[in-house]
Amino acid sequence: MQMLDFPAGQCYESGYQNFIMAISCKSPGCKMSAPAALEQDRLCVLHFTLLLEQGCGEMRRETALGNAAQERQREIIRFISENGEKLARVSTSGLHLTDDLKARILSTFLTLMNLRENLDRAAMRSPFGRSGMPH
Ligand SMILES: [Zn+2]
Repeated sequence: MQMLDFPAGQCYESGYQNFIMAISCKSPGCKMSAPAALEQDRLCVLHFTLLLEQGCGEMRRETALGNAAQERQREIIRFISENGEKLARVSTSGLHLTDDLKARILSTFLTLMNLRENLDRAAMRSPFGRSGMPH
């Protein structure tokens, strides 16, 4: 009861000054801070991998149909390499990661690799991917 007895603004202010150096994760309710490699995204490692997995899932559905425009395919390839690099930087930057998080990072790498592979396969099937000219 007593905990709730001071003005909320005051609490916020002192908290803000103590943690001014740390950028906290933007995911609602998450109390983790963003590691240096993810400061721009304002995400902790866990939420970065969750968001990546989600994004990959959507792109995978998009590319599975084999009719994603070439421009879109290039965007997805850029997404995969940029985030793969970021994930590699996070995982090798000396953060203390739990075994669970390490496993999660590895499976997110796998998801990225599979998405890339899927994209190539879809391009092979597409009439635009190889020479579709009749002989
Ligand atoms: Zn988070």
